Amino acid sequence: MIYLIASIAALSGLLFGFDEGVIAGILPTLTEHFGLSDGAQGFLASALPLGALFAAVVLGSVIASKLTNIVGRRQAIIWAALLFTLSAIGAALATNLWILILARLITGLAIGVAGVMTPLYISEMAPAKIRGRLVSSYQLAITIGILCGYVLNYTVIYNVNWRWMFAAGAVPSLILLFGMWLLPESHRWLILTGKTEEAKAVLNKINATNIEQKIQEVVHAVAEEGQMVKWRELLSPTVRPALIVAMVLFVLQQISGINVIIYYAPTIFGSVGFGSTTTKLLATVGIGVVNVLFTILGMWLIEKIGRRKLLYVGFIGCAITLMIVSLATQFNSIYISEIALLAVFAYIAFFAIALGPIPHLIMSEVFPLHVRNTGMGVASMCNWGFNFLVVLSFPLMVAYGGLAMTFWVYAVGCSLGIIFTKMYVPETRGVSLEKITEHLLHKRNLKNLGR
Ligand code: BGC
Repeated sequence: MIYLIASIAALSGLLFGFDEGVIAGILPTLTEHFGLSDGAQGFLASALPLGALFAAVVLGSVIASKLTNIVGRRQAIIWAALLFTLSAIGAALATNLWILILARLITGLAIGVAGVMTPLYISEMAPAKIRGRLVSSYQLAITIGILCGYVLNYTVIYNVNWRWMFAAGAVPSLILLFGMWLLPESHRWLILTGKTEEAKAVLNKINATNIEQKIQEVVHAVAEEGQMVKWRELLSPTVRPALIVAMVLFVLQQISGINVIIYYAPTIFGSVGFGSTTTKLLATVGIGVVNVLFTILGMWLIEKIGRRKLLYVGFIGCAITLMIVSLATQFNSIYISEIALLAVFAYIAFFAIALGPIPHLIMSEVFPLHVRNTGMGVASMCNWGFNFLVVLSFPLMVAYGGLAMTFWVYAVGCSLGIIFTKMYVPETRGVSLEKITEHLLHKRNLKNLGR
């Protein structure tokens, strides 16, 4: 049952990835269809992260935190699924640019809400032992979504109509909508809102063991946190370490340059010597495949060797592979295309085993229950804000400093990640959410958790 819950909920991750991946291939066709200027293209491409950032700022950190305390995690995901469906249909039927931009902004809103609520819902439903693996299924779904987007992009060369590509997003949206309709609410949220009997029924439904003990643990955690004021509490000495870890991990994830590769892969491959559109798009599909496969490996390693060790591997690997691309470009190696292709694939592999899933996972684990929504909303703001900035600044950085310099900047970002992991990141493997909360509330040093 718990696997079914995680799979259905993770469909919102698939939509997240699909909408990120699909736009890269459709953009040239849309430019032709609507006669878009450069500015309009940029605006259309960035409508998605903008919408998500807006959702993270307004809904995620302010309303959704209260909203989910009133309507629950499950309902919030249902609303997001509805927005996904409407925006996919809206984009497919768009008769002018403004309708299309509006539809993409709404997709972004849905992603922003779902991006906070889905990992939260899964982490609250999952037993501690497999929580890491289940929450990272969300990241796996993102990567499968990106791959689906890339594969659909590839069919552009067979003249598939762009409207169908947007419309395709409505299928997983509807499955998510109906699936979530059938799933139970998070028992932790039910207890938080005083519905203990319903929480018991949910625990029975998901075949949980030690039900009474689980309920007592959550009740205890809620009671301890009940004395807190939410907003001020985020910055209080007990919660601040959690906030810093969650926010900075997302900043580091984004300044590792991942979305430059995800959004601009065909362009990057073009500038290191790949000629035809077909090869560029094929190499891009390759990125999508590596991303999926190594995310699966990461999900297994996350519980096996833990979050911290894996982060080291990820940051070190990404830094080295980025430097290799930089050096190959800088010295204009005769094997530049081959080196760049291999290094970019290796970079994606290192990202996918660690830097992709771990920030989403840790953000869903480290906050005490009562400030969890708000904290995750703020952390998501960092994710989308820096996603937007990195993607937006890439063409300018390449124009002024060149590709090699730009990749050096991302390599430095990854190196900072190694230091940050050493100094601040806790090991949450196998530790129950209540234990993590207790650790923080007793003013113990977060980084010592699990060490
Ligand atoms: C990031 C996204 C990124 C994706 C790539 C996610 O963890 O938050 O910004 O596009 O990984 O797989």
